[in-house]
Amino acid sequence: MVETDVILVGGGIAGAGAAYEISASHRVVVLEREAQCGYHSTGRSAASFTENYGTATIRRLALASRGFLAEPPKGFCDHPLLGRRGMITIARADQRERLAKALDTARSLVPSIVPLDPAEAIARVPVLRPDYLAACFFEPNSMDLDVDGLHQGFLRGARARGATIRTNAEVREIRRAGDLWTVETTAGIFTAPRIVNAAGAWGDVVAAMAGVAPIGLQPKRRTAFNIPAPDGMSISGWPLIDDVGAEFYFKPDAGQLLVSPADATPSEPMDAWPDDMDVAIGADRLGQATTIEVQRVSRSWAGLRTFAPDGSPVVGPDGSAPGFIWLVGQGGYGIKTASAMSRICAAFVRGEGIPGDILDRGVTEADLGPARLRPASQAPHV
Ligand SMILES: Cc1cc2nc3c(=O)[nH]c(=O)nc-3n(C[C@H](O)[C@H](O)[C@H](O)COP(=O)(O)OP(=O)(O)OC[C@H]3O[C@@H](n4cnc5c(N)ncnc54)[C@H](O)[C@@H]3O)c2cc1C
Repeated sequence: MVETDVILVGGGIAGAGAAYEISASHRVVVLEREAQCGYHSTGRSAASFTENYGTATIRRLALASRGFLAEPPKGFCDHPLLGRRGMITIARADQRERLAKALDTARSLVPSIVPLDPAEAIARVPVLRPDYLAACFFEPNSMDLDVDGLHQGFLRGARARGATIRTNAEVREIRRAGDLWTVETTAGIFTAPRIVNAAGAWGDVVAAMAGVAPIGLQPKRRTAFNIPAPDGMSISGWPLIDDVGAEFYFKPDAGQLLVSPADATPSEPMDAWPDDMDVAIGADRLGQATTIEVQRVSRSWAGLRTFAPDGSPVVGPDGSAPGFIWLVGQGGYGIKTASAMSRICAAFVRGEGIPGDILDRGVTEADLGPARLRPASQAPHV
């Protein structure tokens, strides 16, 4: 039996980031079912940092994470975590009104976003079809994000602070007696007064094991695939191109293009795989907007983006179960918000409130805590 201060269930970006922050003050054990911590959603993302995507809470958390990503602590990673990319959001003629609204919303939080002349977008990305592209705007500070560098930096840093990361350790049973949680896994038994649920798509499953009511998490499958760069074109400097109707996006990815049909198919928590039809839809939408004809898909994959009912993440103690802390519902934004989410989670573990710099951005405990998703009769403050 291993005794510790905090047990973290899940070794994806959420669990790794929280382990890094919490281990500055507490003994931590991370329990990860798979042989590799990034096996599920964390290892399957589009590796993009944009401040203009997701609910207002998500955007604020991304803004609050930017400083760490731009200048991680000394020794965290031996190369930059962010790389300049830029992002152009495009619209067809029938999407003009939608684009105008999206631009208004975007600029209210991210003033650096500017309207862009479609001719300029085509000059930057010559495959865009002039008869498709009617309007667009540009986010200059959108970046490529080194997901593995961030994830491994969190894990390495947590280990250096004394945390234990146990892979092949599936949590099977969770009991609470007095002030202590006892967690039975395929790698032994662990006890701690606090448990953090960072189980991604399995967040409600892990809560149920602990006798905590679910919060209605919904995993949604998203597909991505790589295709070779168009013949004779240098694509490395292309920005990410995103459709304002969330129908597809594409960006350079290690010498190839990464394309996604931006699907969001409800799924059970599982090891997601790509459906050929979703890949075909992505290729078709790409072909409508650009002169690229997809001849060969070099790799395709799918992952789960897991959402709380209101689309914002959930971090905070559960009022019904002392010492049980949620860290779930990161949707399609868990990498870019990981730094702020981890710091908030660590503050809750220490019994503190949201860190001041994040609070100053307008993120409150009510925006993030599980109580907002529960009927009033179950909310802890009632
Ligand atoms: C195609 C795609 C594109 C994306 N693009 C971006 C992007 O550009 N930018 C961005 O910020 N985000 C993006 N995301 C979202 C991002 O990947 C997720 O929000 C993030 O990875 C969630 O991290 P997590 O740690 O919560 O989940 P996961 O990485 O899934 O980790 C949860 C872990 O918990 C473990 N676990 C579950 N149950 C148990 C148990 N009983 N015992 C032990 N361990 C358990 C699992 O094995 C898993 O490893 C994208 C996602 C997808 C699928």
